[in-house]
Amino acid sequence: MKTIPHFINGQRYDGSSSRYADGFNPATGEVTSSIPLASNEDVALAVAAARAAFPAWSETPALKRARILFNFKALLDQHQDELAELITREHGKVFSDAKGEVTRGIEIVEFACGIPQLLKGQYTDQIGGGIDNWSMRQSLGVVAGITPFNFPMMVPCWMFPVAIACGNTFVLKPSERDPSASLRLAELLTEAGLPPGVFNVVQGDKQAVDALIAHPDVEALSFVGSTPIAEYIYAEGTRRGKRVQALGGAKNHLVVMPDADLDQVTDALMGAAYGSAGERCMAISVAVAVGDVADELVERLTPRVKALVVKDGMQADAEMGPLVTAQHRGKVLGYIEDGIAAGADLVVDGRDLKVAGNEKGFFLGGTLFDNVKPAMNIYREEIFGPVLCIVRVPDFATAVDLINAHEFGNGVACFTSDGGVARAFARQIKVGMVGINVPIPVPMAWHSFGGWKRSLFGDHHAYGEEGIRFYTRYKSVMQRWPDSISKGAEFTMPVAK
Ligand code: NAD
Repeated sequence: MKTIPHFINGQRYDGSSSRYADGFNPATGEVTSSIPLASNEDVALAVAAARAAFPAWSETPALKRARILFNFKALLDQHQDELAELITREHGKVFSDAKGEVTRGIEIVEFACGIPQLLKGQYTDQIGGGIDNWSMRQSLGVVAGITPFNFPMMVPCWMFPVAIACGNTFVLKPSERDPSASLRLAELLTEAGLPPGVFNVVQGDKQAVDALIAHPDVEALSFVGSTPIAEYIYAEGTRRGKRVQALGGAKNHLVVMPDADLDQVTDALMGAAYGSAGERCMAISVAVAVGDVADELVERLTPRVKALVVKDGMQADAEMGPLVTAQHRGKVLGYIEDGIAAGADLVVDGRDLKVAGNEKGFFLGGTLFDNVKPAMNIYREEIFGPVLCIVRVPDFATAVDLINAHEFGNGVACFTSDGGVARAFARQIKVGMVGINVPIPVPMAWHSFGGWKRSLFGDHHAYGEEGIRFYTRYKSVMQRWPDSISKGAEFTMPVAK
């Protein structure tokens, strides 16, 4: 069985810990790897490597940093299938979806390749008599990223390409459930010409995360994962004076207005609710049916959910793969039972699905609930599985109030043919990412990703210009030369002369 090591100072490193996690192929249920769980010493080694690499890397001209990222982007293109296969075999999502994830990761690298332009700063000539003033952004130092299982390539790519392009050095702590993609990214960065120590990976669990939070040389923490851990990392990191952006969980609604095209809505809901087995922070888990649209919507969805092709994600015709672990499958099953007990109508029950030849895989069929009420746990909490809830509301205003009252505010969508409704929705909704007839409105690399309310702790969204701001400090410089300095001390507040 293979071991998936750390990557520190440009090399694979086995680590000093005696603790290991099992890595599974969720489609077969088999243990396929052993993952060392970093000790405090392993984390300290990675941070020390990043710290030692920082002075030279931050002094490297942005253009030269960008050239390494251009090389990296070319290597990612070449290795796209290999990376996607690593993801499918550890995460379970279907191969075509994993390729989509790799593409979205590559796009952030493309954005980061523009770093000389992005770091240009601003300059004002003669802001006062003989005085010029300019502002610039400078790197922070060693920064760390802690990432979830559900996008083992894309989410790390939300962080490190922007961070290292800005001149920082990086320590990544990926999810211990699917760590191989991060290790491969580290190797490809090295092949692209990145100096040792600029990008390091520590495999691990809470112990590694706590060691990164506590380490005095880590200047900033980027986190993506569930809300309780996001809140914990934000509180513990900011308490120590670190910069923190911590993206948390979600419950994303799709509002179906009576004038929406129901063919398009049905397709959108199938992909957004059941794609990646619902294990997406932007998955749609609630359809809000407005007016009298619900009956026809349920009628259209039911046969489609029953017909979902669920199998090993490496098979070409698979539409949905397994859940990531047996434990997570158990948690989703618990929610289905809770929904039944609370009185929701179970229209399609995915619990008994068996995948021939893969009986030990962590599969669950698509599940559909109707008449879900806002007080039920299956409405209030994030299920993170292939379970779609339909909530019936009388009108648009009730739909907006319902969504605005939810504790999460990551993504949302509204399907309508009415421009006035669409505009009102985009303006009134208290959610960070909004789709109008777009079910999963994940911003492209040139914009920024982030939710509102308890879906994000901190001031900055991920990547795009928000990412540049997060990974740099602002500095303003005022300059004058001796021939413009008047004689004598000035005791009043200086003003432009
Ligand atoms: P998770 O919170 O369990 O784990 C995320 C990371 O935190 C992992 O690296 C894990 O090792 C670490 N971790 C786990 N428990 C910890 C603890 N007690 N102390 C310190 N670190 C700990 O999340 P997950 O199950 O890997 O991912 C699914 C969650 O991530 C969902 O809630 C999903 O909505 C969320 N997510 C959010 C976004 C977003 O952009 N908002 C994107 C992707 C995933």
